[in-house]
Amino acid sequence: MRLASVDVEIRGLTKAYGSNLAVNNLSCAIGRGEMVAFLGPSGCGKTTALRMIAGLVTPTAGDIVVGGRSMAGLAVHKRNIGMLFQSYALFPHLTVAQNIAFGLQARRLPRSEIGSRVAEGMRLTRLETFADRLPSALSGGQQQRVALARALVIEPSVLLLDEPLGALDKNLREAMQLELRQIQQRLGITSIIVTHDQDEAMTLADRIVIMRNGCLEQVGAPAEVYSHPTSRFVAEFLGTANFLKGTLVDRQDDGAAVSVGGRVVRTPAAEAAQGDEVTIFVRPEDIAVSTGGEWPRSRDGHWNDAPATIDKVSFRGPVTVIHLTLDAGGPFVALLKNERVTSSAVAFQTGDKVLASWRASSSSVLRG
Ligand code: ATP
Repeated sequence: MRLASVDVEIRGLTKAYGSNLAVNNLSCAIGRGEMVAFLGPSGCGKTTALRMIAGLVTPTAGDIVVGGRSMAGLAVHKRNIGMLFQSYALFPHLTVAQNIAFGLQARRLPRSEIGSRVAEGMRLTRLETFADRLPSALSGGQQQRVALARALVIEPSVLLLDEPLGALDKNLREAMQLELRQIQQRLGITSIIVTHDQDEAMTLADRIVIMRNGCLEQVGAPAEVYSHPTSRFVAEFLGTANFLKGTLVDRQDDGAAVSVGGRVVRTPAAEAAQGDEVTIFVRPEDIAVSTGGEWPRSRDGHWNDAPATIDKVSFRGPVTVIHLTLDAGGPFVALLKNERVTSSAVAFQTGDKVLASWRASSSSVLRG
């Protein structure tokens, strides 16, 4: 994806705590109006990276440039950055309207300007009818909306969100994700959200920066990183993944062949050289299961067919999950959609000998 106009540039950002590199040479560019998620397991450096952008942590090396201006040495309150954290830290003795107005009063804006911005903030977050309530008389979702309104009314050039919905239960979190995304898009505000929840990152972000041990592992649009991970780490972090280890036996511009337990499996083009040990990756929803007689899907393109035995069949409402063991070795998981008209998934049983099939183009060859 080409960024129309870069708004935030993170250049070689590094933070060392003693010998521990919490963030290690992180570089990425974020476009104007884009929402980017920093995603990764606990301790990978997401929060430290965000806090350096906010000015709350001083980088050991590197720089952050916002709208062409270096943030180096600039105090937090001079960065014009809006922040929203998991703990909303609303002032308990102030009403909703007063909480939202707080940052504007600190900036000494004229009273009429404060009034109109607070009204706009409450309208955006649908809090108009709660203006005079105290935070203790609000639900968790409403409190979070006050915190969001408070961050937005200062009209920040960048909005930073650190696990902002982490304290909410699942249903409320999903509703708030949609609401947050709508507001962010409507305002076109450049935003960075830190999360360890891959569903949240995929729902909210235009692009995901996947971090591991302080380093950037991969960056891309949700569909791109999900379908075409460049490492086993990313493939596993974003969902269930099937892996097959093999040896690259043929390499062409438009595809490769990998020997897996004596069988040849076709893959898309690979970086690896002939003779290299590689890992093939396929998502469970890209696997078709059949008895070999009737193909459950159209067979255009090149398909790999691997004989397998079914270990377990789990009905999950919209899908059936089938656990298999391939004859060539290794466990495999297939996710079959339960389309009532055509489904044959429920007809499979433990012990059945089947073919697990996937289109060569739906797989990837990974490093690691
Ligand atoms: P989580 O999802 O658990 O919040 P994270 O990805 O946000 O994790 P960070 O909080 O950025 O990770 O921490 C990255 C690393 O830096 C960790 O190893 C952590 O222990 C370390 N770290 C963070 N803050 C400090 C500090 N003030 N002093 C020393 N080490 C720190």
